[in-house]
Amino acid sequence: MGDKPYSDKSYSDKYDVIVVGAGPAGTAAAITCAKAGLNVIMIERGEHPGSKNVMGGILYRYPTEKIVPEFYKEAPLERHITEERVWLLSKDSAVKMGFKSTKFDEEPHNCFSVFRSHFDKWFAGKAVEEGVTLINETLVEDVIIQDGKVVGVKTNREEGELYADVVVAADGANSLMASSAGLHPEVRSETLALAVKEVYHLGREKIEDRFNIDSDGGVTIELLGDATQGMMGTAFIYTNKTTVSIGVGAFLSQMIKNKISAYDLIESVKTHPIVRPLLEGGETKEYLAHMIPEGGFRAIPQYIMDGMVLVGDAAMLVNSLHREGSNLAMTSGRFAAEAIIQAKENDDFSVKGLSLYKTLMEDSFIIKDLKKYKNADKFFEDHMQFFTLYPQLANDAALEFFTVDDVPKREKQKHIWRGITEKIPSWKLIMDLFHGWRVVK
Ligand SMILES: Cc1cc2nc3c(=O)[nH]c(=O)nc-3n(C[C@H](O)[C@H](O)[C@H](O)COP(=O)(O)OP(=O)(O)OC[C@H]3O[C@@H](n4cnc5c(N)ncnc54)[C@H](O)[C@@H]3O)c2cc1C
Repeated sequence: MGDKPYSDKSYSDKYDVIVVGAGPAGTAAAITCAKAGLNVIMIERGEHPGSKNVMGGILYRYPTEKIVPEFYKEAPLERHITEERVWLLSKDSAVKMGFKSTKFDEEPHNCFSVFRSHFDKWFAGKAVEEGVTLINETLVEDVIIQDGKVVGVKTNREEGELYADVVVAADGANSLMASSAGLHPEVRSETLALAVKEVYHLGREKIEDRFNIDSDGGVTIELLGDATQGMMGTAFIYTNKTTVSIGVGAFLSQMIKNKISAYDLIESVKTHPIVRPLLEGGETKEYLAHMIPEGGFRAIPQYIMDGMVLVGDAAMLVNSLHREGSNLAMTSGRFAAEAIIQAKENDDFSVKGLSLYKTLMEDSFIIKDLKKYKNADKFFEDHMQFFTLYPQLANDAALEFFTVDDVPKREKQKHIWRGITEKIPSWKLIMDLFHGWRVVK
């Protein structure tokens, strides 16, 4: 894909920009800087970009097009998403909601299912086309700091020190760059979700029949309630061309506390009586696990220091309520690059010189959205009934409502309400719903 062996001595040891990590955030930053004529090196620990990366994965068109216009004409995509479904699971049933639009079938599409191992490789190839030097299979082990300013990185290669005006830390959740530079004092298990994902082969025909989709369209299903065995999190099923991606994530602190392993969690989703028929006759092709930084607004570290910026997951930029991460990663990468381009013009790579990054972030949906939900995590952590009791009550109510017998409807409604208030006082339910609405409004 145009990357060079590390031993190639034609590399200069000093670059304008070193990007650590060739995920969506790093590659977006690299492309934007290279387009402005900067000398950029991007270092990736994987065999190739994407080889170690995990995502559900729904990729959004809008932020991607800002980096590579009309990327969808050539990028390796699976299906464009035409329908978004949400299922509230109890042990043996599901209240199903969703949204389907023919507009989602029209080009340009809103979002796509992708495999990161294919997409990231292609995306990084675009960076190489713009003149970025890409080095794979190289682990960045530390930042080099002189007089309080980041001036380069240390890699695991022999003579592996590289220098630049700016380092872009795009090394994902649990960023080694951020912690080496002292920007992540301590990543707590309460701010990280552990997610596992399987790629499950079913074949095109079964997928299109079972999910009721046509040849290019796809669906997403987010599963709440019983899917996470009473823990805070969600499960998902996304359709690809011949496979489905099925996964589940929950807060690491709760998995430790409840002694539930990631393997048990995904097995319970796959064998759930409502999910199992969708998967029948298929086989697991791949099993992956990854951390998601889900601490929200309060967990965002200082993301600019002299000579370095944090982007994407390294800066804890994930909007878990909306299943958004790749778009925040790409957009923050682009914003950081715009600030670097300005800093280069002024030859000032200090926090002040890079402050355009902060301005762009704060004016954008990234900080505005994360701020909007800043109390959501704590609220739901303190009100676990949203993951346990309430999905169960919704399913009980639906079962009674849709069961035809000789009970008059008004009596049925009264009986449903009595059943609910036996489990939770009405004032408490109303308060929970009111406060729940306030933290997401
Ligand atoms: C199971 C799961 C499902 C998800 N589903 C979705 C979804 O459907 N839609 C969505 O938008 N988001 C989703 N996300 C979130 C999304 O994947 C992330 O927010 C996004 O990938 C962040 O991009 P990034 O470039 O910041 O980090 P990453 O994608 O993590 O990329 C970091 C890169 O840095 C490299 N790297 C790390 N450390 C080093 C080092 N020391 N030296 C060199 N290279 C290094 C890694 O190999 C990797 O290539 C999901 C996440 C998970 C785990």
